[in-house]
Amino acid sequence: MIIALDGPAASGKSTTARLVAQRLGFRYLDTGAMYRALALAAQQRGMTDEAFASVLPSVRLDLGYDADGNQTVALDGEDVTAAIRTRDMGLAASAISRHAPVREYLVQMQQELGRRYSEEAGGAVLDGRDIGTVVFPQAELKVFVIADARTRAERRLAELEVRGEVYPDREAALDALEAELVARDHADAARAAGPLRAAPDAILLDTTELSPEEQVEIVVQHALARQ
Ligand code: C5P
Repeated sequence: MIIALDGPAASGKSTTARLVAQRLGFRYLDTGAMYRALALAAQQRGMTDEAFASVLPSVRLDLGYDADGNQTVALDGEDVTAAIRTRDMGLAASAISRHAPVREYLVQMQQELGRRYSEEAGGAVLDGRDIGTVVFPQAELKVFVIADARTRAERRLAELEVRGEVYPDREAALDALEAELVARDHADAARAAGPLRAAPDAILLDTTELSPEEQVEIVVQHALARQ
């Protein structure tokens, strides 16, 4: 079984996907981390996104899990799990993900991983922007996860603070983060290749007023109903 979770930045997709996978004994794939890792690889090589597209097969991308079930990412043998989670890498990922060759490369990798995970564990939960529309249009369950922009900014700020970033003026930081998230969503929705949009048959899940446990429960119930 394939479960596709798509939606704008910081809407709660990754947390929900990881916990749904845990509940159902499925495996989880955070596809945003793959775009972030390629953005970092292009930066490390000092290449433009266009030039980088031609050397894609030379990049070694290894995915795994830590003890808590969080996805880990290694780039050319080096663990970059934490390095790709910055604001800058989110923006760089959005920029590189506009390029069709980059998308085609990762979409194929995501399809292979999703099929393998599903065979090995009985199911795979993927989160991203185009999972229900491009990567797995035949997914048994598609959920489009949204939340209002301020709530998303608050969640993202909390994540950054947990990681040790310090924001003395929280209101100003929230304003900046909210503007950044909205701009990234517009760019993701406006691109020609794999734009951010809900599949026609996706369930809309607004997490603004929901706890992670409530979000997970809703998706798990939909999944059980389809098994
Ligand atoms: O989900 P996350 O914030 O980690 O994604 C980073 C960026 O990667 C997104 O803004 C989007 O441009 C890109 N992305 C994508 N397709 C996906 C997942 C992420 O284009 N399936």
